[in-house]
Amino acid sequence: MIRVQGVSTRYGKKNPEVLKWVDFELPEGCIGVLLGPNGSGKSTMLQCLLGLMKCEGEIILDGVSLKDLSSRERAKKIAYVPQTLSFAPSSVYDAVMIGRIPHFGLTPGDKDHEKVRETLEELGLSDLAARNVLELSGGERQKVAIARALVQEAKILVFDEPTSNLDIAAEQAILSIVRKLCKEKGFTVLLTMHDLNLALQVGERFILLKDGEVISSGDDSIVNEDNIASAFGVHVERVHINGKNFIVHGGKEE
Ligand code: ADP
Ligand code: MG
Repeated sequence: MIRVQGVSTRYGKKNPEVLKWVDFELPEGCIGVLLGPNGSGKSTMLQCLLGLMKCEGEIILDGVSLKDLSSRERAKKIAYVPQTLSFAPSSVYDAVMIGRIPHFGLTPGDKDHEKVRETLEELGLSDLAARNVLELSGGERQKVAIARALVQEAKILVFDEPTSNLDIAAEQAILSIVRKLCKEKGFTVLLTMHDLNLALQVGERFILLKDGEVISSGDDSIVNEDNIASAFGVHVERVHINGKNFIVHGGKEE
């Protein structure tokens, strides 16, 4: 469960606020999508949730205030799958083991190795364990980033634009992993994404940001023509095909 109450923040005292009194809630086991134009504050919101950026207001993860958690405790509650995967050259196995650091002292123990092996298996990465991460495809690397977050054993996962550089097959593979984690294992997931149709495909709750403010939040009905026009300044149409909602371009011009 994620509860964000009145969160505001800025980059440096003299700069303007980039998040302004942000409020939203995401129940356990739910997939939330943070939407909004470039620069609206999505990545900053994730940094606040991860405790990597200071903010005013309150952030509660599974009933515990972020302020009361040490960085090690935080890492056991919430894990991050970044937008740009900046791996050092290492084997896939070692890249994933980095996620276990909050759990071990100086060197990994049997339990850490077991968890890494099990997670690689689960994500279909076992055959790649010895490969250099830098030689993998974008989709494979994104899976390694997910594996690294999963071995951290945090029940809340935040993903920053997880599908933005992937082809449609890799993108669907990642979304299906996300869905499985939530529905079968009870993870709570917050994603940022640009593609509104992918968001509608995977999301259950939506938070729409503009200039650091939540302009709407709720179920998929908030991803509608009016809200998209006010957030992005473009006209779209929301259409219903085969029981699903899609956003298409080409709505009427003003
Ligand atoms: P989004 O992820 O929605 O594109 P960001 O959270 O990255 O938006 O950025 C929100 C605002 O904060 C933008 O105006 C951006 O220019 C500003 N910003 C982001 N990172 C920094 C930084 N390191 N220093 C100063 N301003 C920043
Ligand atoms: Mg961003």
